Amino acid sequence: MTDPGGHQHHVDPGELVSVEDHRRAVLSAITPLEPIELNLFEAHGCVLVADVIADADIPSFTRSAMDGYAVLAETAGPGATLRVTGEVAAGTRDPVRVRPGEAVRIMTGAPIPAGADAVVPVEVADERDGKMQVRATPMVGDHIRPAGEDVRAGTTVLRSGRRLGAADIGMLASVGRGRALVHPRPRVAVISTGDELTEPEATLAPGQIRDTNSYTLTAMAQEAGATAFRHTIVRDDRRALIEAFEGALSHADMLVTSGGVSAGRYDLVKQVLAQLGDVRSTKVGMQPGMPQAFGFVTRPLSHPVPCFGLPGNPVSAFVSFEVFVRPALRRLQGRTDLNRPRINAVLDEPLRSPQHRVSFIRVTLRRDDDAWHARATGPQGSGILTSAVEADGLAEVPSDRTEVPAGEAVVVHLLVSQ
Ligand code: AMP
Ligand code: MG
Repeated sequence: MTDPGGHQHHVDPGELVSVEDHRRAVLSAITPLEPIELNLFEAHGCVLVADVIADADIPSFTRSAMDGYAVLAETAGPGATLRVTGEVAAGTRDPVRVRPGEAVRIMTGAPIPAGADAVVPVEVADERDGKMQVRATPMVGDHIRPAGEDVRAGTTVLRSGRRLGAADIGMLASVGRGRALVHPRPRVAVISTGDELTEPEATLAPGQIRDTNSYTLTAMAQEAGATAFRHTIVRDDRRALIEAFEGALSHADMLVTSGGVSAGRYDLVKQVLAQLGDVRSTKVGMQPGMPQAFGFVTRPLSHPVPCFGLPGNPVSAFVSFEVFVRPALRRLQGRTDLNRPRINAVLDEPLRSPQHRVSFIRVTLRRDDDAWHARATGPQGSGILTSAVEADGLAEVPSDRTEVPAGEAVVVHLLVSQ
């Protein structure tokens, strides 16, 4: 049959591995990176590996929540005049005392003087000639933040397995930690292969196209929480490929390549990867993205590094990354939420899909009163990157369907980060 991209495919369904099985094989082979201690900004966004327990009360002392006067509440009733005997600012270390009939000027964050049990805000006090009068009677405890108000000593403030957000980074600082034990961000080397490829700013010679994949894939790896590096383009040449892969792998926790995994004469990537370790080529029952290579490169490394050989068509590379590489990257980071959020959306137009393969169709979404609605982003050929640019999500047409009519609902994986 003719697929929505207009290509003829002659696929023996018996040789196809299902998307699910391939994903499972990939994810079960990947384990989180060894935890390391990182400073707080480097640890931001990473998954914590040990519980964080406060070893002291936060705050450690009782302090004022307002600028005002520290007083003894029972001596500061209506009509009372108090003698202002001193002042405490935030950060003060000198002991200060308040006696009945006295008031001490106090700033937000300053320790409450001994003897005081309330703060009268400046807004309701009148001070003149060393005396102050209270316009609103204070109650014991007014505008006082007790020690341990935020965190009690011994409390677990952050649990292992938690992904550190901005407030968590602040909490670590609050309990006196300048570093955190986390799974680090994976270092990902991204390499485009192909004799026809040029750098973006080069003038195109006949037969050349610009390398888009290494840019898309590096950006996707960054979005997935990795530290990604784009390698320069590598030719369809065995020696050049070996050299590039070996060089890139010495500093990487994962290698992602594009191109050279199909059945053409110059599709050398899968052979070279297989030669460098245990990397296997698979035909996965999906469209786009049928040819996939995955495994571990061991040569010349001391430890195996996961490698994905993605197909070269820009949309195939994009979808393959979404379906296999992104969850693998999240697992490397110790994350357990591996998938994009998904919704059900009603089709505004029919979608077609080749037999025996799951289609991931780039769709735009719109919401009406009672449902999400999806529509394909125009032509869906695997070389049509525009279809990915416009996409809000990937609609999944199951392998046992060749068409889903308008009005029926499909699962859409949302292309939003969370
Ligand atoms: P391949 O997987 O190497 O057979 O490539 C399949 C198609 O994708 C061919 O038309 C290539 O020219 C194209 N292609 C391969 N690599 C890239 C790339 N990095 N950027 C854009 N197009 C590419
Ligand atoms: Mg090629």
